[in-house]
Amino acid sequence: MSFLNLGLSHSILQAITDLSYHTPTAIQKQAIPIILSGKDVVATAQTGTGKTAAFVLPILEKLHVTTKPRRAKRIGALILTPTRELATQIAHNIELYSQHTHLTSLPIYGGVDLAPQKKRLIEGVDILVATPGRLLDLVNQRAVHFDEVEILVLDEADRMLDMGSQDDLEKILARLPKYRQNLLFSATTTDSVRALAYEFSHETQSPDAIEVNTSPKQKTADNIKQWLITVDKDTKSALLSHLIQEHHWQRTLIFIEKKHAAAKLVEQLAKRGIIADAIHGDKSQAMREKILQRFKAGELQYLIATGVAARGLDIGELARVVNYDLPFKPEEYIHRIGRTGRAGATGEAISFVAKGDFKNLCAIESRLNKIIERRKIDGFEERKTVPLSILNYIPKAKRNTHGSA
Ligand code: AMP
Repeated sequence: MSFLNLGLSHSILQAITDLSYHTPTAIQKQAIPIILSGKDVVATAQTGTGKTAAFVLPILEKLHVTTKPRRAKRIGALILTPTRELATQIAHNIELYSQHTHLTSLPIYGGVDLAPQKKRLIEGVDILVATPGRLLDLVNQRAVHFDEVEILVLDEADRMLDMGSQDDLEKILARLPKYRQNLLFSATTTDSVRALAYEFSHETQSPDAIEVNTSPKQKTADNIKQWLITVDKDTKSALLSHLIQEHHWQRTLIFIEKKHAAAKLVEQLAKRGIIADAIHGDKSQAMREKILQRFKAGELQYLIATGVAARGLDIGELARVVNYDLPFKPEEYIHRIGRTGRAGATGEAISFVAKGDFKNLCAIESRLNKIIERRKIDGFEERKTVPLSILNYIPKAKRNTHGSA
């Protein structure tokens, strides 16, 4: 199937050609026609699957054909998203996809001066991309009105719920026009995500939402080489330095749980002659964006990120991610490693598993329905006794032999 069969106008197809997108991705093939038909959608799709275009392209199409002058402080489509980075990224994609139309867009998020965002909203904007907290600030200051909203998107809905945005979302939903189209995109469709989807479809009296699912399990199994090393917590930084230096790792995204640990790891690596930088909640938005741009441009080889700061980042082609700390939820693991192995390329995902992580590891492997390969690195064997560990939980037939890196 080509983009020509999806029902998009010439001006939008032109932008797709400019970007050298040849074929729609699975989520785009499924979601675009449904969205154009006006139905609500609940889609399970991860970052890296082309999900942004899956909702942005049909939104552009709909607003473009019914184009009308936007009144002051009004918006036509509202995209809610968990983080500043994701808001900026979606807005950037909208700009690319809408370059041959007259549609306007704007990202708004916290952590930066509110005044310019307020000023920009005065003229009205076709598509507003916002984090929930900042949007509510602007609503409370009467800087934005929702009476022209035709389409609502909740992007990465599971993360917005994880981050405690439920109350903010409900306050926003309560102010939106009753008749509108609802699109919900989420990396996982948990019960709370379904409840949210039900809530908004029910409230808007939309017919049942159509569920769209593009099998993320297969993606992790096929394209991404996953392996793990069991390691003592206090030798993790030495192990990482060793892997970077001895195995000549380049461009690597390293996930870490805590922001102070991220800053400390930058210092520990620097002592071993490795230049890394970190993005986490204590850094200003401008600083985070600058660091991300350097990483994307290849000027920075090692980016350390806390889970929250990294949510939804589009870093482009990435060969390797490291779970310096194993995430607590299997969904988070899948989401993280999904940043590699995009569009048919092979990626590698390495996890450092320390004492205390084995319960999480079990949950992850059971969700993947697969045992992650264990490797040993000379000089980095664990000193402490790790519970006879994961192997206790695994049927013999499924056990992997240890390889070496
Ligand atoms: P997303 O899942 O929205 O974060 O998109 C991941 C990446 O895929 C982005 O860099 C997009 O520019 C790119 N992309 C989206 N759709 C396509 C497509 N049909 N063909 C090639 N690249 C695409």
